[in-house]
Amino acid sequence: MSGESHMETCPNCGNEMDCWSDWKPFSTVGGECMNCGFHYWTETGQMTLKDVNELREGLEKRPLKKLAKSKGTVEISENRLPYHIDEMLDRKDLKERERKALKIVKKMLEIKTIAEAI
Ligand SMILES: [Zn+2]
Repeated sequence: MSGESHMETCPNCGNEMDCWSDWKPFSTVGGECMNCGFHYWTETGQMTLKDVNELREGLEKRPLKKLAKSKGTVEISENRLPYHIDEMLDRKDLKERERKALKIVKKMLEIKTIAEAI
């Protein structure tokens, strides 16, 4: 096992909460309070080439032509997907079946968002 767990004082209610950390495949932390329901965790995400190049510009680094290839070893938090789905749909290397599947997912997410708002 590459992680550890421990108890911490919940910053929201002052009771004890379960917390953990891990360092493989990268550093993550999280915690859940069984008293007030407060929770936190390390969120992962995927920046677009545009996002990365904007950050690089701020650091006076040359812009990238494309992002480094993913080794597929990390999971991207699902809740980040809606923000990037349009960019994924624009990618030329996506096969038509993947594009159709993404369009269906996008539609389902829109329906879910509407359902949650009602
Ligand atoms: Zn709490």
